Amino acid sequence: MDKIEHIGIAVNDLAASNIVFEKILGTPHYKIEEVASEGVRTSFFQSGPNKIELLEAISDDSPIAKFLDKKGEGVHHIAFAVTDIKAEISRLKSEGFVVLNEEPKRGADNKWVAFLHPKSTNGVLVELCQEIGS
Ligand code: ZN
Repeated sequence: MDKIEHIGIAVNDLAASNIVFEKILGTPHYKIEEVASEGVRTSFFQSGPNKIELLEAISDDSPIAKFLDKKGEGVHHIAFAVTDIKAEISRLKSEGFVVLNEEPKRGADNKWVAFLHPKSTNGVLVELCQEIGS
């Protein structure tokens, strides 16, 4: 793992939360991106070397809709940048972690992503992400 790439936060209303996080961070979001396969609309903020990703559900069966139903708004996942996501998936599997994506999938912000199930990570949904093309 190279660094914390971003922290994902589930929100009910992306437009309203963009205003809140613009005030907190002192900088506006730099992109809004929909990931239709995940049923989410995301917005990204840069904070030094790290990012904040806000996630809003765009369908009722989105994982974010389910998360908001169960837990309400708040921290949803922590994403770590990796340079070889397939090697990291194998390494973590061999360490006994439950990997939700055997094959990396295309995520927001030009990334290959894979998730570790929170039941094997002290309740924290962990995302691995690798820049596409790197
Ligand atoms: Zn993320």
